[in-house]
Amino acid sequence: IKPIHVVGGGMAGSEAAWQIAEAGVPVVLHEMRPVVKTDAHSTEGLAELVCSNSFRSDDAMNNAVGLLHEEMRRLGSLIMSAGDAHKLPAGGALAVDRDAFSQEVTRRLEAHPLVKIEREEIGGIPPEDWDSVILATGPLTSPDLAGAIGKLTGEEYLAFFDAIAPIVYKDSIDFDKAWFQSRYDKVGPEGDGADYINCALTQEGYETFITDLIEGEKTDFKEWESSTPYFEGCLPIEVMAERGRETLRFGPMKPVGLQDPRSDSRPHAVVQLRQDNALGTLYNIVGFQTKLKYAEQVRVFRSIPGLENAEFARLGGLHRNTFINSPRLLDGSMRLKPSPRIRFAGQITGVEGYVESAATGLLAGRFAAAERRGDEMVPPPPTTAHGALLSHITGGADAKTFQPMNVNFGLFPPLEKVEGKKIKKKERKPAMAQRALDDLADWCARSTSRAA
Ligand code: FAD
Repeated sequence: IKPIHVVGGGMAGSEAAWQIAEAGVPVVLHEMRPVVKTDAHSTEGLAELVCSNSFRSDDAMNNAVGLLHEEMRRLGSLIMSAGDAHKLPAGGALAVDRDAFSQEVTRRLEAHPLVKIEREEIGGIPPEDWDSVILATGPLTSPDLAGAIGKLTGEEYLAFFDAIAPIVYKDSIDFDKAWFQSRYDKVGPEGDGADYINCALTQEGYETFITDLIEGEKTDFKEWESSTPYFEGCLPIEVMAERGRETLRFGPMKPVGLQDPRSDSRPHAVVQLRQDNALGTLYNIVGFQTKLKYAEQVRVFRSIPGLENAEFARLGGLHRNTFINSPRLLDGSMRLKPSPRIRFAGQITGVEGYVESAATGLLAGRFAAAERRGDEMVPPPPTTAHGALLSHITGGADAKTFQPMNVNFGLFPPLEKVEGKKIKKKERKPAMAQRALDDLADWCARSTSRAA
């Protein structure tokens, strides 16, 4: 059998290579370290953790990333097996001994008879005779390859920085204060003149909010990130506030064309939230990309009327990060639409985090191996954590505002009512997790019988 080529031996590429080899298909894994270095990696090990040593919560029944861990274990993940083998005490989180973890991933891949590891940079789109390729080169993809990907996909569909506005679970917004309305009740192609959720601020509330933004603690850019281009279109909100106390009222917080139904008048300032996923469970705070520290974001954004109890699916940020516009570019099995011999996996697809990156590597590896073996692989159902992530990046997210995303329960389809009643809030996460594990088991059983 002809080998599949995986470019990038990080979290996604290592997992993808393992899945391919375990499916009985030969694989060549191309990793540029130590020949060429990145700004964040410091070893030559595969699956090096560049910052924290945590895979975050390991609670499968109450946390979406914990559920993703459990699904990956059930799907024979190398990353999870090495993580579990080298775990460190960390309460409910899964933290790992980073060196032992990376060495174990490296050792097991090197020992696999179907895996060949080449230490070289792939500096352009791989040659045509590599008829099945997975590009998993991560947030710090080497500049030559990134340039070539930009040419292939169209420059406008490749980003070098993320500018993430916080994302809120819709069901945590207080609709006694917030209301749906588009500016001037403008009706979009699919809208009804009420596409945005609005939160009104009084003059006093606005002044306090601006002071909080200016004085709030910020995270620093890393030295090599200091050339962050502050594109005028995505300035951090606190930088806008620093330019003048009224700047935001003439920018993302402008109140024009809006009427607060409670007072029947135009508010002093407005915070708008826009739908972020096709399911309508997540809303992003428009224009609120920020470098405020996470705890400060929660404090400051919960001072907005209507968001006092907001739960955040993700907080804002601004980082160097190479990623493609996956909802526009990838098909349902992670192939690049204009060049389907190429799949993408990992953070470059617009997922965020070690575990999410590895999970997309697992899926891309399985898709590529099934294709090579002539088997049909049905994607995992969207009720599973793998399926929810996959559906998000390959179509569920809005391509126009696509920004990287961690796995979270807002990406899962809502639960069915039981005997006409909504499931109680406290029971929703465990019920979603149980549904995911049941559906994953069904999917595995169906996949096995199809392959047989
Ligand atoms: P990586 O793990 O980065 O792997 C990509 C691999 O491709 C690298 O080994 C690289 O050397 C190689 N490569 C690049 N270009 C080429 C090329 N042209 N040819 C051959 N090989 C190539 N996530 C968290 O969950 N927690 C954190 O604390 C965290 N901190 C981070 C800190 C920084 C500074 C950065 C940049 C990211 C951080 N992330 C964190 C995100 C993290 O990078 C990803 O979650 C994860 O490592 C991405 O996995 P990946 O496989 O997509 O990329």
